[in-house]
Formats: sequence, structure tokens, C-alpha cells
Amino acid sequence: MEIRIKIEPNQWELYGHCVYNAEDIATSHFLLNRDFRIDSLKVDGCEVSPYIEKIELDDSDGYIVHKISLPANFENLQVDYSGMLTGKTGCNPYVRERITPEFTFIRWETFCYPLFSENTKQQLAEYLLKPGGESQIVIDVPAGYDVVASEKLTYVRDVNGRKQYVYSGTKYHSHFFNCSCAKYHKSTLPTGSFYLLNSNDASTLINETMVKAHGFLNQHFGERDIASNIVYAAIPDGFGSFACSEAGVVYVQQSTLKSIHAMNEIIHEFIHLGWNVPADRSQQSIRFFDEAFTSYFEMRVMEYLTKESRVPLYASLWKDRIGSGSFKLVPICEFGQRGYGDQSYTIGALCLHELCELIGTARFDEITTTFLEKYKSVPVTLDVFCQEYANLADEVNKPVVEQFFEDWIYSCKGYAKYL
Ligand SMILES: [Zn+2]
Repeated sequence: MEIRIKIEPNQWELYGHCVYNAEDIATSHFLLNRDFRIDSLKVDGCEVSPYIEKIELDDSDGYIVHKISLPANFENLQVDYSGMLTGKTGCNPYVRERITPEFTFIRWETFCYPLFSENTKQQLAEYLLKPGGESQIVIDVPAGYDVVASEKLTYVRDVNGRKQYVYSGTKYHSHFFNCSCAKYHKSTLPTGSFYLLNSNDASTLINETMVKAHGFLNQHFGERDIASNIVYAAIPDGFGSFACSEAGVVYVQQSTLKSIHAMNEIIHEFIHLGWNVPADRSQQSIRFFDEAFTSYFEMRVMEYLTKESRVPLYASLWKDRIGSGSFKLVPICEFGQRGYGDQSYTIGALCLHELCELIGTARFDEITTTFLEKYKSVPVTLDVFCQEYANLADEVNKPVVEQFFEDWIYSCKGYAKYL
């Protein structure tokens, strides 16, 4: 499969040219962002016309599905498409995309290239997790622009006054392709390469803060040798920071690079690169092992850097969400089935904070270091987490810790303090 995307920032448009081999295609239709128009669709070089349908994909407000009839034994399908992005076509409400002269962001969630999936969210999720063959992705931009993508960069070549960034990866990873494009100001620091949108952003502050944060995490939660070739790319505020650990790329909102107090977001994403254990698939949507742990570690690092407690902030963020009436009080173990995973960022992190208060920081850090090491590549569940922490607490503490989990993980009793 080959995906070529030519970005024309000054025209606010992109041009896609994708070639799929028969083995890349499991269905007779593909999803594509509804902002784009199909310019040409060819099966083995012969033009065909698709049947176009708008579908609802759960919480999105409609996607365009292109249905095509594929002959038996065809070899390849070529899709050419183009258009602008209105920025309102994301699959999840938090996802933003944009093509402008200053900044371009395209993301797989907004179907910026055809995805051959059935049209329900469940089937899409299954399709995205299916491994596949090799693929090549080329992002073509005018000279002067830099591209940072969530895929391994093979090489960059100059072609007719433009720059082509060539990425290769497995089909599995290509399903999650994200890329930003801007006239970045590059700063290579001992802690990573920083692609900044503003040349005034303080490299020294960023570097010093990242060194301190890494040192603190190493000391308290286990040493991680996080490669200095991590790429941090600034994105405008409102786009939402996130890390692509496979590719070693972290997208961070611009405002987080302005002061130590704002750097919690980049620190949060940095923590995801090294101090998470995988959650069992059945419990991923609870977001406890990624987001509760990461937000808790973020809290600890920020308290170390700024000497200010973050507990009141997390508590008020959580109380506001509860007060808004959109959430009922449910135990952490039910966050997944209720779609409440977002609460792990606040009350999930506060649960870990309370556990630390209960058994003491030194003991908590020691147990956590052991837990992260033991399960670094073994998916865990909340039950395993509770058993491990209770077993690692000393004899006297064990019943106390078990009661704590009863109150905080399996019931809502623990929340009382924060209501
Ligand atoms: Zn996170």
C-alpha cells in the first residue's frame, strides 16, 4: 500500500494519491473525510465510479463512505482525492485537523486517507488492530516546510523545489498515521529534538526542565533510558498534546513550552514514553494504567518542580465534571463500561495519591517501581494491580491496603473526601 499526500499549505489544500494492493483491501468500500472530493478511482488502471453514502459513526456527525464494486482477481485500486479541511470532521470530538499556511495537521481519526473498514466503530476498531503488510507513506511539502509524522522516517528527498518525507512501516502502524507540517524552528537539545512554532520559545528552560523531570522519575519510579532522539513537535493550542511512542514522536501544545508551570503537558507525554504498563484489552477503556498513573506521576513531578501541590487542581477539575451532572458517581472499576475513562486523569490520579499518603511515599515509590518493572510488557487488570500492591505492602499494612482498594477501586467510599 502506498499513500502519497501532497500538502499545499498556501492553497489550504491537499492532494492524495493512494495505491492499495488487493491484499490491503478487506471490504468493498472505504471511509474518507467528508471534506474531500474523489478526483479519480481506478481498478487495475480503469476508471470506476463509486457509490457515495453518508454514514453515522457513533458520536461523529456523519462520514462519507465510498462504495465500489471490485472485480474478482483485481490487482490494485488507485484513489486520487483532494480538498480542504474544515477542521470539523473529526471522528472523536477532541480530534482537530487543519491545512493553513502556518500549520497543517492531519490525523488518521479524521480519515485523511482511505481506510477500508466496515462502517461501525466496533468494526473499525477491529480493523485498526489487524496487522498487515508493508506500506510506504510519502508526505510532499513545499521547500521551507518541515514535517513531523508518527511513523519511522526513512529519508527526505528534494524533488523539483519541494521536499518529500518518506516513511515506511507495517500496515498496522500506517493505520495510525498523524502528521504536522509547519515552518518549524528546530532546536536539538540533549533531551531531544524540539520543533518549535515560535523561535522565542525558551530552549534552555525546556531542556533544564526535562532533565529535572527525567531525573525525578528515574529516582522515584525506576530508571528509563529515554532516547535523546525523541522528537517533540509543537502544535497550536486546542489540538491536544499526545505521544506516539512507537515512532518516538510527541506532539505538544505550544503554550506548554512557555513556563515551568505550563510544562506539565510535555512532562505528561514524556511519562507515557517510559513509565506505563499495558492494560489488559478488557480494561483499556478505564484508562487507569495509562492516564491515572501518568497524571499521578505528572502531579509528583510538577510538585517537585514548582513546590506547589496539584491535589486541589485535580480535585476541583473532577468536582466540576461531577457537578456538571454529566457523570454519575461510579467506582473506578466501572469507568470502562460507563465510558468514564476521562475521570482517570483526575480521580484516578487522586486514588494513587491517597494510596501514597496511606503507605508513605518511600514505600509507595518502591512498590510502584517493582510493579512497573514486573508488568512492563505484561497486560494488567485492576485486580492484579490491587493484589500486587497489597502483597508488596508489609504484613501490617496489607489489610489496610486491601480495605483502601475496596473503598477506592470497587466502591465510591473513597471519593467522599473530595466531594
Ligand atoms: Zn495521557
